[in-house]
Amino acid sequence: MIQAFQVAAPILAKIEEAGFEAYFVGGSVRDYLLNKDIHDVDIATSATPLEIKSIFPKTIDVGIEHGTVVVLYENQSYEITTFRSESDYEDFRRPAEVQFIRSLIEDLQRRDFTINAIAMNRNGDIIDPFNGRDALERRMIATVGIAKERFNEDALRMMRAVRFVSQLSFSIESSTFSALSDYGGLLREIAIERISTEFEKLLKGTNRKQALQILLETEIYKYLPGFDTKKDKLQMFVDLSDSNLKVEELWVLLIYKLNLAKKDIEPFLKAWKLSMKTIKGIEKIFSWLEYRMNHEWTLESMYYAKIDSIFSTEKLYNVLTGQGNPNNLDDLKQEYESLPIKERNEMDITGTDLMEWFQLAGGPWVKEKLESIEKAIIIGEIENRKETIREWLMRCNLS
Ligand code: ATP
Ligand code: MG
Repeated sequence: MIQAFQVAAPILAKIEEAGFEAYFVGGSVRDYLLNKDIHDVDIATSATPLEIKSIFPKTIDVGIEHGTVVVLYENQSYEITTFRSESDYEDFRRPAEVQFIRSLIEDLQRRDFTINAIAMNRNGDIIDPFNGRDALERRMIATVGIAKERFNEDALRMMRAVRFVSQLSFSIESSTFSALSDYGGLLREIAIERISTEFEKLLKGTNRKQALQILLETEIYKYLPGFDTKKDKLQMFVDLSDSNLKVEELWVLLIYKLNLAKKDIEPFLKAWKLSMKTIKGIEKIFSWLEYRMNHEWTLESMYYAKIDSIFSTEKLYNVLTGQGNPNNLDDLKQEYESLPIKERNEMDITGTDLMEWFQLAGGPWVKEKLESIEKAIIIGEIENRKETIREWLMRCNLS
């Protein structure tokens, strides 16, 4: 067994000593069987949240009503979720109430896809009642049970299916696929925040193209914010090839290809429930991309864009124009590093200096002068040294 499970195995042992069952489940077991890196190790147990809290001294309540307690153990935190069944689904969303149960099999049965319904005990033995390993081998995403029913219980599972296509480069099994085509409209009932999380995972996945193509084919795209009337433009986004873009950069690429009017960008990103901070970041890169599509970088534009935006912009420019030069980023970095100053506050003079030199009270002129000095420094017209700047000012003033 790999280290992440070995480290957590004593937790399972403790729960068993107290007379309950406990297993590794979900994404970590799936990714382990795929030989992928695993991030968080999820644990499922027959013990109720209160029973878990009585076993471990350090716990945090995160979602007791859903059966989840976080246990702090050896400086790590682990989500421990009580076996549960989910009956009584309301409005195609999460179940109205969860019922804690003592049976692992029933817990696995309520999970979304067979590849996510595999459990492993602390000795590394696999419990796989729905043939998840077989699906892993065939690289297939199939619901546990009848797809139509499972998507009607919780429509978010449709987005999850497609994001796993992107992350794992798997295909979707045929009856699960038909249900995607039939029930996309149920996504209207799902909170955008949840859809957004899955969509961003989809964007970041290595098989993004295929996954987006499925959103188009099944017409699920129609139920995602701002996509309804944009099939052709979305297709152009799908057809782009790239690697190594950050999620923020992918949003920029998407709005670029959707060809949104400037005023519509913020409402679009808000509709996806992105944070204002993220939206501002996306808009900044977008503006520089628009600039870059018509200009080469200058010392001045590099100074105002700053290195992170320069990199993001240049990567996107390369994707859009296919004029990528892999050495480009290094060259740009060197050029940026050679700027005499990177920030305004690195200038060797202040507004107070100006007021003293000119024997004038403050006013808009100070800001204007500072800006023209700043620009002259950036493009190398004058050195960033108080005396030089003063002489330069006096010369300018005379002429
Ligand atoms: P990731 O690697 O992105 O964390 P994951 O499969 O672990 O993928 P999570 O959202 O962390 O996904 O969910 C953990 C497990 O809970 C899943 O593997 C699955 O068994 C179950 N699960 C999550 N969401 C649903 C859902 N909407 N319906 C049914 N089961 C779900
Ligand atoms: Mg997970």
